[in-house]
Formats: sequence, C-alpha cells, structure tokens
Amino acid sequence: MSGGVNMDIAKKVEELKALEMKMYAYNYASSTIYVDSATVAPKDTSEGRGRALAVLSEESYKLIAGDYTRELINDLKSVYDELDDQTKREVHLLSESIDKLSRVPMDEYIAHSVLVNEAQDVWRNAKENNDFESFRPYLEKLVDTARRFAGYYDPTKAPYDALLHEYEKGASMEMLDKFFGRVKDALVPLIEKVCAAKQPDDSFLFKHYPKADQQKFTDYLMDVMGLDRGHCAVGETEHPFTSELNKWDVRITTHYYEDNLASSMYSVIHEGGHALYELGGADELQYTVCSGGTSLGIHESQSRFYENIIGRSEAFINAIFPKLCELFPEQLEGVTAHDFYLAVNRGQPSLIRTEADELTYCMHVIIRYELEKKLISGELAVKDLPAEWNRMYKEYLGVDVPDDTRGVLQDSHWSGGALGYFPSYALGSAYGAQMVKEMEKEIDIDECVSRGDLSPVTAWLGEKVHRHGSMLDPADIMKQFGGFDPECFIEYITKKYTALYEL
Ligand code: ZN
Repeated sequence: MSGGVNMDIAKKVEELKALEMKMYAYNYASSTIYVDSATVAPKDTSEGRGRALAVLSEESYKLIAGDYTRELINDLKSVYDELDDQTKREVHLLSESIDKLSRVPMDEYIAHSVLVNEAQDVWRNAKENNDFESFRPYLEKLVDTARRFAGYYDPTKAPYDALLHEYEKGASMEMLDKFFGRVKDALVPLIEKVCAAKQPDDSFLFKHYPKADQQKFTDYLMDVMGLDRGHCAVGETEHPFTSELNKWDVRITTHYYEDNLASSMYSVIHEGGHALYELGGADELQYTVCSGGTSLGIHESQSRFYENIIGRSEAFINAIFPKLCELFPEQLEGVTAHDFYLAVNRGQPSLIRTEADELTYCMHVIIRYELEKKLISGELAVKDLPAEWNRMYKEYLGVDVPDDTRGVLQDSHWSGGALGYFPSYALGSAYGAQMVKEMEKEIDIDECVSRGDLSPVTAWLGEKVHRHGSMLDPADIMKQFGGFDPECFIEYITKKYTALYEL
C-alpha cells in the first residue's frame, strides 16, 4: 500500500465526516422546527413552517441522493477493508439510505413532507372536534403515499413488510404474526382473569392534582432518573415525545392532566427512558449517521423499561412514595405505598393506548397492526376505518368507543405518515423483558431501585445498548440477550399479573 493511497483515503474520510456534519445540521434544523411547532408555535403558523421544511427536505434529499454523495460512498466502498469500524458502519448506513432514497422521486419526497406538515394540523383539529371526515382525505393520501413509498424502499417486499423494516430493521409480517399470535393467546385469557378478579382502588389517582405541583414532581422524577437538566429539557405538548437534537441536547415533553396523576408521571418516565438512551450514546458517534438510537423497537425497549419494568415496580414506588406524600399530602391521605403500587398496575381494558396499563397495552398495538396491514394491502378503505376500529376494540378489549376522538383519531402517528410504526412499541416491551432477565443475573435491581438509585440500571443498559448508538442493528443488540424471544415477555407479564391479582 502506498502513502499516496493512504492520503486519498484520509481525505475521503474527511469529506465523509464533513458531509455527515452537514446532514446533521439539516436534521437539527428540521427537528428544532418540529419541537417548536409542537410546543410554543402559535396555531396558525403552519404555512411558513411548511415552506421552510420543504426547502430543508429538498436539501436533505440532495445531500443523501445526490451525485456527490453517491460517488464519495462508492469511493469509500472500494477501500472498505482499510476503514475503521465506525467509518465502515457510516458507509454502510449511508449506502443503504442512498439506495432507498434515490428510488423515491425528489418531487414526491418533498410533496410528502409538505403533506405531513399539513396533515398534522388537520388531524389536531379533527381530533379536537371529533371530526374524522375532515382528516379522511389526508389519511387517504398518506396511505397511498406509504404504499407507493414502500415500493420504492424495497420493491421485492410486500408493501407493509417494506414499511415495517423502515421502523424496525428485520421486522416482517411473518415475524409479527407469530409474535402477536403468541401474545394474543397468552393475554386474552389473562386479561379475562384479571377483569374477573377483585380490583384495587385507584380512585385517589384521579383526585385534583394541581399542575404546579405535578411540575415539581416532574423535576423530582428527572432527578431520580439521573437526567442531566443541562442537557435535557422538559416541555409540554398534547402528545408527549422525545426529540434528540444530539446527545448533548435532548428534549422531552409531557402533558399534565389535573385529574390524573399517573398520566404525566409515566409520560415523564417513558420519555426520560428515551432520553437516557440518547444521552448515553458514545461521544465519537455524534454528528455522524451512527449517532442516535438504532431503531424504534430498541428505543421503546428503553422507554418502556423505565416506565414499566422499573417505574411500575414496587421497589420504585417505595422509593418515590415519600416525595409523593410530601407534594400531595391531602390527595394521598390514608394511601400506602403498596396501595399506590397496586393502583398504577391496575389491569383494565380501556380506550386510549397511551393511558393503557402494562397488561392490556399490547392489545392496542395488535389492533393497529391488523388495521394497518389491511389499509396498506387495500383490503380496508380509509372511509371504513372508524367502524372497523370500533369493531376491533369491542372484539379485542370489550370496550365501546364513544367517539373518534377517543377512537381512531387518538394517535398522531398516521397524521405524520408513520404507518408500520406501532409494532415497535410491543417489540420494545418484549425486548425489555429479555433485558431485565439478563440484568437480574448481574445486579440486585430491587435493592438499588428501592433506594432511589437507578444508576446501576442505567450503567448496565448504557453498556449493552446506549453507547452503541446505531453501530449495531436491533438484531445484533438482541443477540446479547439470546436473540429475539417473545416467550420472555409472556413469562414476565404472566408472573407479574398473577402475583398482583393473586390469580
Ligand atoms: Zn416511546
């Protein structure tokens, strides 16, 4: 190997890093605009935002699918073996993006970002006014676009498989049919038993909890989770989310309901879990395509780990109960930590996915999965979606949907063009159950959590999951835990609810 060749490689690698920094900057701008639109932007401002986003998405598209990037990546592929591991991964991930994106015509790519920006506003109003009809034409366009884009992403796959792969690399209908089949078989009889059993009193969770006191509780929870406020801020939105601008700047949001204490509490813990994943990425991955969580399923495994496995454990409730009593002495008068633990784990079929308990949550996901499959295959028309939604809620969860606001319009995902996203929540639960099984072998989780010290848990997840960013595929992360195995989740949830309800 001559020195001249080495010089060339070094220069190409430098060009690559500069290109990734530019991509990062466009993403940073788009994400900041999104955070702004969801938090403080006045409501009639989508027009100007849409124009800015159209420009940014055109530039992003060109950065990935343009000739310069393609040639650079091809050059680097020709010397692939001489690159370090991280640069190899960057080349690999960019090469995948180029292949995929260059099959999407640029005008369609831009039109999609404009459509999504508009559809989100329409959906917000539709949800507020229980008016599915106003959202219907947008959803029809979004379903059409998703189906068409699926063909661009991977013409060899069934369209819904191509979409699933976008959100969770390696996921397919074959895998999910099997997974959800097992979950349904186990959960349906378990939910029936829980419903027939004596229910704990959870009425104290729905007393009046002033927002100002809940905000203090949010600050406390973020401290317990070890979220560094210098690098992680909390805002308020209709739907809680996490936006990772980079590992040193993560934004989470929550929504306060003064008549529901658990809602914001678990939103903060859930989004805090997402934030810890991002904050724990290795420094050297920042500003490259290897930064950030590797997939939505792995992301949800972290958020749902903190929310459910930790946040709904008796050890955690014991740790935080003194603070709850200090902030809410009247509302929690006569309530014990054990009462609180039983209340936040009450298993009860309900209407709203984000408010669902750990037991019934997956059923909400399965309903959406089955509806999306039919929407994308064309078996179900958008105009028939609300009726089918209501029918499935009755069949799977036994609940009557009173209106579309609390039915088909409840989630923001479809308005954002995200079809194929929902299964990642259930995969996250399943991944998390596998992780805790391994973690228990090395850490006395109850011991540290009951002292309010989550740092051993976060350090363990940091080592196995967080620090890797997108260096590993989801399947590679899960290899550390024996590969994806839905049985762990079924064991975990059955054991937990059998004990809770003394079944
Ligand atoms: Zn989440």
